[in-house]
Amino acid sequence: MQTFQPPRRVLMGPGPSDVSPRVLAALARPTIGHLDPAFQSLMEEIKGALQRLFNAPDHACVPLPAPGTAGMEAAMMNLLEPGDRAVVAINGVFGGRMADMAGRAGATVVTVEHEWGQPVDPARVEAALAEAPTKLLAFVHAETSTGVRSDAATLCGLARKHRALSVVDCVTSLGGIAVDAAAWGADVIYSGTQKCLSAPPGLSPIALSKAAQAAIAGRKEKVRNWLLDFNLLMAYWGGPEGSGGGGRTYHHTAPVNALYGLHESLVVLFEEGVQAATVRHARMHEALAAGIEAAGLKFLVEPKWRLPMLNTVIVPDGVDEAAVRAHVLKAWDLELGAGLGPLKGKVWRIGLMGESATPWHVRLCLTALCDALNAQGVSVDSRAVLAAAEGRLQQ
Ligand SMILES: *Cc1c(COP(=O)(O)O)cnc(C)c1O
Repeated sequence: MQTFQPPRRVLMGPGPSDVSPRVLAALARPTIGHLDPAFQSLMEEIKGALQRLFNAPDHACVPLPAPGTAGMEAAMMNLLEPGDRAVVAINGVFGGRMADMAGRAGATVVTVEHEWGQPVDPARVEAALAEAPTKLLAFVHAETSTGVRSDAATLCGLARKHRALSVVDCVTSLGGIAVDAAAWGADVIYSGTQKCLSAPPGLSPIALSKAAQAAIAGRKEKVRNWLLDFNLLMAYWGGPEGSGGGGRTYHHTAPVNALYGLHESLVVLFEEGVQAATVRHARMHEALAAGIEAAGLKFLVEPKWRLPMLNTVIVPDGVDEAAVRAHVLKAWDLELGAGLGPLKGKVWRIGLMGESATPWHVRLCLTALCDALNAQGVSVDSRAVLAAAEGRLQQ
């Protein structure tokens, strides 16, 4: 065997995003024991930082030791018991994954399906909630497979009105657009580290409201998975002796260095300011969109519901979707995302997430895309495309 040297890449797909040198340096610091007092204070700081970032001062916040899907699985397995009714809105890949998990937890799952590219329709969700008593409403705030935002405040409000707990997937939205657990009244919110937080994949920050914790405490049967059982997790993450927690008991070995990385990514984000970061994502999206439109390309999603951090661009007739991605990877070391499911071969997904949401990334992406389109015989004026983006960047 030989040391693995990854190729140089610029990451502008659906995640992971580029990781900053500061986070990479943090990951390489010496490993210490996960029960070391110094590590415990790092854990406390991360919990507090996540409460601030989710705006969830009354929620219990921890980073789960696995990627974003772990947050989804923890939400479903902890909240649902066999026979519970769950309403799951599906408008892309990740809503479908939530419904699958809810079924595996033994719930009776009612799905509210939408065309891909559309936001979740609150009226149809409300109709499903009104049919029968429901334990949980789940939906995706930022659907990464389509580039669509849904109205989380309204959907969480509907859950409350119908006495259901709300589960909100914020894997892609956290750090890129406003996420506000307190204002929404969301019960469970989870995210991942490799999208707008720009840390490597492998951790899933999650926040649980008091009502969600009470529902878990009142379960009739044990949570069916052990690693993500919130009762056991909180005995570990709950807090050191003397701080109101029960004293840490061994549950699993926390991924020590990965948590250094998450911690540093949160330091970086708070240095910039969460609000400033959302403004940056919006500005970079507008510049990219100006270039995309100047190239004669179109977005899948109407402007009101577009995600700034995930741009779904329709592949023009006669253009080979995969060949364009292969070209930009080979010639420009640039990773773009492909379409999934019904959008396979039909769209590119361009990520502007975290460290990958900079003017340099916008310029590189447009330059590479024009080059690839010209290589396919589609004539685009790259100078005009870059000028359109530059006009927005200078505003
Ligand atoms: C990426 C993503 C996930 C899954 O996260 P993993 O880290 O890949 O497990 C879930 N939901 C959404 C909306 C995502 O974008």
